[in-house]
Amino acid sequence: MKKIAVLTSGGDAPGMNPAIRSVVRTAIYHGLEVVGIRHGYKGLIEKDFFPMKRGSVADIVQRGGTILLSARCEEFKTEAGRKKAYANMQEEGIDGLVVIGGDGSLRGVQKINAESDIKAVGIPGTIDNDLACTDYTIGVDTAMNTIVEAINKIRDTATSHERTFVIECMGRDSGYLALMTGLAGGAEYILVPEIDFTPQQVCDKITQGFKRGKLHSLILIAEGVKAPFADLTEYHGSPGMAMGDLIREKTGMETRVTILGHLQRGGSPTATDRIVASRMAAKAVEILLDGQRDKMINYLNNSIGVCEIENAIKKTETINMDIYNLANILSM
Ligand code: ATP
Repeated sequence: MKKIAVLTSGGDAPGMNPAIRSVVRTAIYHGLEVVGIRHGYKGLIEKDFFPMKRGSVADIVQRGGTILLSARCEEFKTEAGRKKAYANMQEEGIDGLVVIGGDGSLRGVQKINAESDIKAVGIPGTIDNDLACTDYTIGVDTAMNTIVEAINKIRDTATSHERTFVIECMGRDSGYLALMTGLAGGAEYILVPEIDFTPQQVCDKITQGFKRGKLHSLILIAEGVKAPFADLTEYHGSPGMAMGDLIREKTGMETRVTILGHLQRGGSPTATDRIVASRMAAKAVEILLDGQRDKMINYLNNSIGVCEIENAIKKTETINMDIYNLANILSM
């Protein structure tokens, strides 16, 4: 292996920059040349390549987002699109590729390994923490801290005005962020796609809380929640807004809704995200040097390891019921 490339793909996540930095510097340390690819798989198809040196990644360890830019690319899902990408990489003399992204990006890695001579490996980079075989995906720690900080601020104003607040956080298919930040932020109710509930249950708990003298009620809801009010969600374009309407209607209480949106994806990566990203990326380079392919770097029991991509992208049960039950007990 002489020359490797690195790209970021899918939704950006804080910690991608420390991962890129570690790929580049570990590779150079081992005598490899490094090519940066801009805009994810789109950049592979359009040959948006540039040489990366040690200095190319100076002063980025603390920066959110990704200096390589990220994209979603439908063309890479087609055989014709991928053929262009393989030809571009061969022309450039690239024989190894590190992809930093979520489950969709990892499916792209599988295709590259199955259809070309290029050895490709993946690093889990997504704030959703929705991959199997790893306790951790890069970005989740920063996103959790951002959400908890927002909850703290909303709690101040909720208490002052004795209001109910619905806070919607990210998680299209996974309630992980809502669950963990709901526990850390002391939310009264946590609503996630994986667990059924009725709006009446939520309203009853809010009403009981205020009767007992609670000064506020915080409901944390994941953006992926659909049932049991799919029609209302469709109408409002968001489950948080739908839930806010239902609470107002059923309890008559003053209710405000905050949709945290994309601020959850930004920000300087936390120390944990920087450390895990740096370690995972170094491992990715090492396994490429070792001749491995089609693997994802994982983090289990405080150890950096390697697993099959096929196992990592299997849909997992992301809700830990012990944590969910504990959050309920603590918010009584
Ligand atoms: P996030 O978790 O932030 O959504 P992701 O990596 O899952 O990140 P996706 O949009 O699902 O984000 O995938 C990123 C890109 O990976 C897609 O735009 C596409 O270019 C590529 N990709 C996804 N699925 C496949 C597939 N089955 N075959 C080839 N390429 C794919």
